[in-house]
Amino acid sequence: MPRISVSKSGIRPVEPNASLQRHAQRFLELKRGLEQIEYFCKGTVLKRMMKCGKAQCACASDATKRHGPYFELTYKANGKTVNVKLSREAAPLYRAAAQQYRKLKTLLNRLDKLSKTILRHQAKLAESKSPSARTDSKQGLFRYPRLKR
Ligand SMILES: [Zn+2]
Repeated sequence: MPRISVSKSGIRPVEPNASLQRHAQRFLELKRGLEQIEYFCKGTVLKRMMKCGKAQCACASDATKRHGPYFELTYKANGKTVNVKLSREAAPLYRAAAQQYRKLKTLLNRLDKLSKTILRHQAKLAESKSPSARTDSKQGLFRYPRLKR
């Protein structure tokens, strides 16, 4: 069997089929993790102490006399940074939601990686079962680049 190596997409030689089971198990575990995700929100909650801008106010010269704290949610949308003011009460809710979002992203990345690994296994398996692939492995190789992103 020819080894498939596609430069930057990170497709490495396929591991033995025995590990497919292990990957499938891990996929299920990670998928269960998705159900644990609570309400989520992209972004970061910032806590800020502000100067009011009045020259005679103590905040102008003393950093410890600044006003606040003020909270805001900041995130990127279409390449632009968006800031949303949050009340003191809302801040912990959004902070928790932002944490959930990061957790979700981590999970998705892992699921994505794992899915690709599993798909590679499945493709290899399907190819090995196909008579045309066995008699003409070059054809299989030729089709492969279309899968590239
Ligand atoms: Zn001030």
